[in-house]
Amino acid sequence: MKLVVIGCGFAGVEVVGAIRKLLSKDELEITMIDPRTRLEYQASHPEILSGKVTPEEISGDLAKFAAKHDATFVNKAVESVDFDKKVVKVGEEEIPYDYLVIATGGQCTFFGVPGADKSYTVNTLADAVRTRKALEKLDLNKEVKIAVIGAGLTGVEVVGELNDYFKEKNAKNAKIYLIEAMDKVLPPFKDNVSNYVRKFFEDRGVEIMTSKGVKSIDGGHIVLADGTELDTDMVIWTCGIQCSSLATTFGLENVRGWIVTDEYLRAKGKDDVFVIGDAASVEIDGVLCGKNVEEAEKQGQTAAVNIANLIKGKPLKKYKPVNTVSDPRAFISLGENKAVMVFKGMMFKFMAYRLKKFIEHHYMKRFD
Ligand SMILES: Cc1cc2nc3c(=O)[nH]c(=O)nc-3n(C[C@H](O)[C@H](O)[C@H](O)COP(=O)(O)OP(=O)(O)OC[C@H]3O[C@@H](n4cnc5c(N)ncnc54)[C@H](O)[C@@H]3O)c2cc1C
Repeated sequence: MKLVVIGCGFAGVEVVGAIRKLLSKDELEITMIDPRTRLEYQASHPEILSGKVTPEEISGDLAKFAAKHDATFVNKAVESVDFDKKVVKVGEEEIPYDYLVIATGGQCTFFGVPGADKSYTVNTLADAVRTRKALEKLDLNKEVKIAVIGAGLTGVEVVGELNDYFKEKNAKNAKIYLIEAMDKVLPPFKDNVSNYVRKFFEDRGVEIMTSKGVKSIDGGHIVLADGTELDTDMVIWTCGIQCSSLATTFGLENVRGWIVTDEYLRAKGKDDVFVIGDAASVEIDGVLCGKNVEEAEKQGQTAAVNIANLIKGKPLKKYKPVNTVSDPRAFISLGENKAVMVFKGMMFKFMAYRLKKFIEHHYMKRFD
């Protein structure tokens, strides 16, 4: 039997690691495909800005991972899939599969805001490194203004790391603006978390502007929907992801590009195609899964069990969501080696940052 995994982020890597524990290389040939050579630990991208981590520390060698799991790694982008012929097309090559896993994640979206695509981001490791380099070019002897657009998880973490960066450089004239279209910081989270984080940053001089949609960006010049204009030295865009461009070409049932799965994580109507991680729209018994690392990993584990069960003629396992849109859980770092952990709507501060870093270090060990 042949398994092909498209996309080797958190979900793709997890499905390979989990299925190799269930099936030997004689039972299952695995091909992993990704245009990147390294898995990117996106949750730590904001720390590239403060220099707390290096790109090498928060990325893992995919070829090495594949070799450790008796899999073949193809370092290319998939261009299309022929679901009838059961082949994945990579350049001139056609790679056959019995089972396919689509784990192509998401990509940054600028919601069509004019000029937004010219701003800085931290979505990919290369983006984060580019943003750090731009920070280093700012003349900190003068007054410097930086706008972070989007006060979701990434925007908040970016602000925390910018604070640390400016503190380390003793840049007393640096001003950070956090701009959010919704009426609060961290919109998906409960008010206890939002209010705590808002006060944490306000106490450190960050100017938080909520209920302020961005209409256009021209270099550092930002025009808000209410007509307010703001001149800054640098704009960092941290809001919004959309489905990967490849996933939108498959013609599979989708919600705004995210591929709809059944309760076993198969693409609707396709018995041999699993979709996991950010690329998937997974709703089980009315509960919509979040797009986060925990979900990507759990979905990878369930897909692995289900592929093994199909091969062995056993019944499929229904997926149980763990980190949902209605009840999100997360570690949110705030700079100063501080973080909050959100679990079942409650917020925990003690040891949260150390636990977050422990999880990162533990995760990256699988690439050693
Ligand atoms: C800056 C940032 C910070 C984040 N912080 C957190 C956090 O603190 N906590 C949390 O839980 N989540 C966080 N997330 C979200 C989390 O990273 C994602 O939910 C998670 O990465 C999803 O895993 P995935 O495997 O579905 O996608 P990804 O990890 O994005 O992997 C997708 C892979 O598919 C590959 N791919 C794309 N197109 C193709 C193609 N055509 N052919 C082959 N391969 C392809 C990509 O190269 C990539 O390697 C953050 C995301 C970002 C961007």
